[in-house]
Amino acid sequence: MAALADGLEGVVGAKAAKALSTALDLQTVGDLLRHYPRRYVERGKMTVLGGLEVDEHVTVLARVATITSRRMQNRPGTIQELVITDGRGELRCTFFSRPYLLQQLPAGTEALFAGQVSQYRRTLQLTHPDFRVLPGHDDAPDAATAAEIADFARPLISIYPATAKLPSWDVSACVRQVLAVLDPQDDPLPAALRAELGLVGLEAALRGVHRPDRLEDVEAASERLRFDEAMALQLVLAQRRHADSVRVAPACPPVADGVAAAFEHALPFPLTDGQLTVGAELSADLSRTRPMSRLLQGEVGSGKTVVALRAMLAVVDAGRQAAMLAPTEVLAAQHARSLRAMLGPLGRAGELDGAERATRVTLLTGSMPTAAKRQALLDIVTGDAGIVIGTHALIQDRVSFLDLGLVVVDEQHRFGVEQRDRLRDRGRDGATPHLLVMTATPIPRTVAMTVFGDLEVSTLRELPRGRAPIASSVVPVAEKPAWLDRAWARITEEVAAGRQAYVVCSRIGADDPQEEAENESPTRPVLELAEELAAGPLAHLRLEVLHGRMPGEEKDAVMQAFAAGEIDVLVATTVIEVGVDVPNATTMVVMDAERFGVSQLHQLRGRVGRGGHAGLCLLHTTSPAGAASRERLAAVAATSDGFSLAQLDLAQRREGDVLGVAQSGTRSTLRMLSLLRDGDVIASARVQAALVVDADPTLALHPGLAGMVTSALDGDRVDYLEKA
Ligand code: ADP
Ligand code: MG
Repeated sequence: MAALADGLEGVVGAKAAKALSTALDLQTVGDLLRHYPRRYVERGKMTVLGGLEVDEHVTVLARVATITSRRMQNRPGTIQELVITDGRGELRCTFFSRPYLLQQLPAGTEALFAGQVSQYRRTLQLTHPDFRVLPGHDDAPDAATAAEIADFARPLISIYPATAKLPSWDVSACVRQVLAVLDPQDDPLPAALRAELGLVGLEAALRGVHRPDRLEDVEAASERLRFDEAMALQLVLAQRRHADSVRVAPACPPVADGVAAAFEHALPFPLTDGQLTVGAELSADLSRTRPMSRLLQGEVGSGKTVVALRAMLAVVDAGRQAAMLAPTEVLAAQHARSLRAMLGPLGRAGELDGAERATRVTLLTGSMPTAAKRQALLDIVTGDAGIVIGTHALIQDRVSFLDLGLVVVDEQHRFGVEQRDRLRDRGRDGATPHLLVMTATPIPRTVAMTVFGDLEVSTLRELPRGRAPIASSVVPVAEKPAWLDRAWARITEEVAAGRQAYVVCSRIGADDPQEEAENESPTRPVLELAEELAAGPLAHLRLEVLHGRMPGEEKDAVMQAFAAGEIDVLVATTVIEVGVDVPNATTMVVMDAERFGVSQLHQLRGRVGRGGHAGLCLLHTTSPAGAASRERLAAVAATSDGFSLAQLDLAQRREGDVLGVAQSGTRSTLRMLSLLRDGDVIASARVQAALVVDADPTLALHPGLAGMVTSALDGDRVDYLEKA
């Protein structure tokens, strides 16, 4: 008998165990049982050969159409050519010096063929594919063992992710052996829950997914296995939320005559309804002694900063400090500037014109001169700095706060859970600071429930009134080369009208490697394009470059000059992607826009049209008409709804990217669950996990579920939660 934790060698033999380990990194019985088939073929239903891609390792069910054998022209030996068909499409298979294949694979034979697809003179082919002839109803082919024949005689044949060294049918044979000796499994899901949700037992699911008799078996099995994956994940998150709930945070209830109240009176604009609603949510959270863990998602330009500032002031009024983490130095410096500007005298404590109840905004970044840094550190430790803005530098150990009450993380996607938690450990006397995470990339529901599942969510949907919409269009230079000149002319006009513009490139210099396939046209680097524009179409304008390789001070100087209107056109990389706020900028040209993701483009264009003037975003591309990337750009140009674009973005990425799992192809703990399709499963698991954890936080009464959590945390699960 075999348990899940047993090594494979004892069950399938040393040779097969070695192959499973080297080819697929499967070590235990459990590993193999979690190596699910990719698909199933039904006897008589051929694999569609039309959709195969070059270099793919495939296993196809097909019928031999023709087979011929001839002598090679310039060498001794023979060549066998086989054409296999699915009834419509064809695939050529070539073998060398295997004349006996004429008997083994006569025309009309149904067989599984496995191999790597290659291209030869524009036709797809398999060279020396491995194959298994499916047994007819009354004959027994020579080579295969009786058990293997039984594998191929099944109504559904499981096709596994496989490699050249280890074809699908060998995996299948190992799974058969394992299932034959598997110990009876205790089901980790409580029977009542299984009954309530109509899920099959774990053992039935494992057998059903590997060796189904009917497609319905596969469905029932995968429904169960998907739920398990969602449940394990949601249990982890529910426990995390529970752990948060027993921590103690400094309560910061609103006070009537503090800085926050004074700031309300001084605001130059009325807050939007959304800002008021979210503000009330934050205020309620901050008033409690249980730490807030909240995600604020709001469209680009929806005014998240002022919402965060109000929360920070409430914390200052409670006599504590607030820290705001920004992903880049440019953004940190800008936040510091704009918070100081918004606060006016309220942000100038200790200065001559400071208000009576004022606080101080302190900036801390890695590239600050030593003296300034020392002063900042001092202000932070003495508590003189009520509000501290910084980059990763803030996370470093030598930064100590007098009494940190709130951590705001701007543009969450650049920080990991671990990083934000490191700041959260800086509370006074073991208290846990409140946490507000802000993102302008709208997060699809499934992602919010998983990757951000330990956070409550607030949403700002509306933009402040009077905000002019951004018009976007594609500049397809493949067909309309002249349109690019018109884009430069447009920038010239805007500048003449007193406005400013961005030109965004995907890389800095010609020496930057571009991530791309060789057949794509090269992209324009910032440095080269800036020179060209300065010498040509934008010669008469004040033009500067901005990119990540410039020293921090220089970047900051350029950004400030741009904000002050001393620069007309900024030629930049995506350093300006997040949060840069220059209301007078109205036009943006994104070069090689097909290189950017959907949400990224949406972020980028949010940099224009932030003042009262209409914004224009031009998406330059060299992609030919009909390319998939052109459709994506057209979609971005056609809608300004970040939420629907986020959904599109998700649909276009691979799951691994969504979860932030390393691309190396390592096994993700999510094998069957899809963030794209399984929103309902995730939602249901979330509800169930919360019920269980509320009643039994340590899962002491639910050993099965506790085991699911442990194995989830053992895997690379933690990894992606951290990296998300
Ligand atoms: P984001 O949500 O993208 O971070 P910001 O917080 O940078 O947006 O706000 C964008 C701009 O809108 C800023 O210039 C800010 O001062 C302004 N703003 C914020 N709230 C309002 C409001 N209620 N009415 C008018 N302008 C606002
Ligand atoms: Mg912002």
